[in-house]
Amino acid sequence: MRVRVLGSAAGGGAPQWNCACPVCRDARRDGRDRTQDTVAVTGDGTAWYLLNAGPDIRTQVLRTPELAPGPGLRETPVRGVLLTTAELDHTLGLLSLREAVRISVYATATVTHALSTAFPLRPMLGAYTDLDWQDLTAGLVLDGGLLVHRLTVGTKRPRYAGDTPGEDWVSALRLTDTRSGSSFVYATCLPAWTPAFGTFVTGADEVLLDGTFTTDDELTRTTGRPGSAQAMGHLPMAASHPMTTGYPGTRFRYGHLNNTNPSLGADIAADGLELLTDH
Ligand SMILES: [Zn+2]
Repeated sequence: MRVRVLGSAAGGGAPQWNCACPVCRDARRDGRDRTQDTVAVTGDGTAWYLLNAGPDIRTQVLRTPELAPGPGLRETPVRGVLLTTAELDHTLGLLSLREAVRISVYATATVTHALSTAFPLRPMLGAYTDLDWQDLTAGLVLDGGLLVHRLTVGTKRPRYAGDTPGEDWVSALRLTDTRSGSSFVYATCLPAWTPAFGTFVTGADEVLLDGTFTTDDELTRTTGRPGSAQAMGHLPMAASHPMTTGYPGTRFRYGHLNNTNPSLGADIAADGLELLTDH
């Protein structure tokens, strides 16, 4: 299995186009660019799947040699997209994949319903490509031998979907290579570290955690805007980091950084970082 971070920022990216906060200013000055959260995974090095498809997907695919097309004229290693939320920063990129001859999209019934009604991305995309839209059920096996398990970790709706019904809004995914046995957990939107989540990550080789905010008050402290991290559905790093010490043998790193989050270092994912390689 190989796991590659294509984008390591929360919605808006970092720097964000209209933000002059210290983190965005420093990023502009130093030429650093975090694009919006998307991860690429493969079991066999040939069939690749995207975990979410953010607005920066075209740039991300172009700068990832493994995702280059060929040898057929419109042959692409990208087989499909697994959605963990219905948020715009995780779904808008699907519209940029409309040139695909065929693409598979996996989502919960809740997310699928939102993307069929409140934000009708599914029927829109289906007008442009051969769209194979499937339920993201536990026990799904992807091309290349990746086994998928899913856990609902949150019930927060996207802002556009205020009265759309459903419970399975925010998922964590666990991907296991059926040949090597290695496993990766993707949980970049994690509202709380529940016992169920603790069980879900037990024994994983690598986990990408919610790094949206360092502390619960980060957004208000840095921008003056109201809103605590936990009210926005994001467990702050200060609260999740102590939990990670209970899992020896598992490497935890953070993705989905908001542009207000100044964190750098070995535990912080950057665009292009390879999280796991055993292929
Ligand atoms: Zn900023």
